[in-house]
Amino acid sequence: MIDTDKKYFNFIDGKWCDAECGERFENRNPARWDEVVGTFPKSKKEDVDKAVKAACKAFQTWRLVPVPERARLFQKLGDLMVQHKEEISKLMTREMGKILLETRGDTQEGIDTAYYAAGEGRRLFGHTVPSELPNKFNMTVRMPIGVAGLITPWNFPMAIPCWKVIPALLCGNPLVFKPASFTPATATRLIELILEAGFPPGVINLVHGSGTQVGVPLVQHPGVDLISFTGSSAVGKDINARAGAQLKRVSLELGGKNAQIVMPDANMELALEGVLWGAFGTTGQRCTATSRLILHQEIHYDFVDKLINRANAIRIGDGLDESVEMGPCIDENQRNTVHEYVQIGQKEGAELRCGGGFYEEDECKGGWFYRPTIFTGVTPEMRIAKEEIFGPVLSVIKVKDLDEAIAVHNNTDYGLSSSIYTQDVNAAFKAMRDLEAGITYINGPTIGAECHMPFGGVKETGNGHREGGWTVYEFFSEIKTIYVDFSGKLQRAQIDTGKVKEC
Ligand code: NAP
Ligand code: MG
Repeated sequence: MIDTDKKYFNFIDGKWCDAECGERFENRNPARWDEVVGTFPKSKKEDVDKAVKAACKAFQTWRLVPVPERARLFQKLGDLMVQHKEEISKLMTREMGKILLETRGDTQEGIDTAYYAAGEGRRLFGHTVPSELPNKFNMTVRMPIGVAGLITPWNFPMAIPCWKVIPALLCGNPLVFKPASFTPATATRLIELILEAGFPPGVINLVHGSGTQVGVPLVQHPGVDLISFTGSSAVGKDINARAGAQLKRVSLELGGKNAQIVMPDANMELALEGVLWGAFGTTGQRCTATSRLILHQEIHYDFVDKLINRANAIRIGDGLDESVEMGPCIDENQRNTVHEYVQIGQKEGAELRCGGGFYEEDECKGGWFYRPTIFTGVTPEMRIAKEEIFGPVLSVIKVKDLDEAIAVHNNTDYGLSSSIYTQDVNAAFKAMRDLEAGITYINGPTIGAECHMPFGGVKETGNGHREGGWTVYEFFSEIKTIYVDFSGKLQRAQIDTGKVKEC
């Protein structure tokens, strides 16, 4: 029995609580807009202030807990998430629409991240380095930084919060977490399970509310030492400017305009499956979604023909139905944005080959469904070839050779994920070197990140940090350099070096 219209709360200083102002906002199911998933505190600056104060207090004890002890709690968290995987995934489908197969994958990524952290707690390595002086020892250690402000988008409601919450805590930083307003229920389940795993009060604080009322005060709060943000490039720039004014450490994972290249020697069936999954999975609402298909002219005609047939056959509907292959857009505004881009593409002279409209059959009337859409005849300068649409729209661009494919690929402000299908090892290595992107897949679609590998992009997709893998621990910790001189005398670096006989 689905618990509809549930009342959810903030979690501040070890207590579940309402916003100070007492106001609430609703979270609805994008597949059935009349279904309210829950109501949440509409928090403001004063709630952020309370949460930051609690986190600052908790820092003094949390930073002293041995890292393997912190890590042990993530083993427990992973076990709890495994137990609750199905329930969490269903809740996620209800609050943001992607199909159960994908929400189970999203939850699994959270589980994998927790278990990975459980091991990393025994490997938070520093370096030992030879000193240039005798009887002196040099090393680096990883230190906690302070209070972490975490702000997440709605398209990966469990995976992305886990990518931030887990390494922040493992590295010894208490946190204040502001989830996306579209997916506060999944975020709350994560915090509930973290508490069940045994984390102490004050270390984790959850504040629901909007980007302007909660996100901005969190970024600007002088008690917050670092910000980890995933979302749009526009908001990322705003955050970078505000946090930069206080010289905060900031990690930004932003938008994408990812492309799959298919060369004439590729395995065509594999390339076809890849682009269908990459373009229409999560209704195209992934930062790594394939929104451009760069096809070699020799295979263009046949490939497009097959692609359109397959796209037209995609089953659209409520993601809770296991036979459905594509869910709705997140809300009415996003669906309208997608439709505006389709109109822009037509005006620019691209050829609309399938989809291009709302999907409102039978039980889909009450949701924000859009048909899988494909444009051919797209040129690299068109807006639909350059701008992030964040919907089920694929722009196909025809090229004459690999050099042109790479040039077209790089003709965007973004640089997150890229893919090439080819059996030619020389072409593959050239692509690995020349595609401007943080991630390149050979014979795989643009989506499919694994939690123990670095994740992030170049150009306007980010600011050089990486989530996932060992690299995220570099962001969430500060390196301290330590020199231990056990010579019993003053030794002057750069001045007393080269006197080996004296040791
Ligand atoms: P968004 O509008 O940028 O929002 C992201 C988060 O920031 C939300 O929690 C939002 O709150 C909050 N926010 C909004 N304005 C803010 C401000 N001025 N200051 C501080 N916080 C603010 O992005 P979205 O629509 O949720 O997600 C889609 C975007 O995320 C796409 O561009 C996608 O490519 C990108 N994305 C990137 C990655 C990556 O790893 N590179 C992964 C996933 C998604 P509200 O929810 O209350 O508005
Ligand atoms: Mg919702």
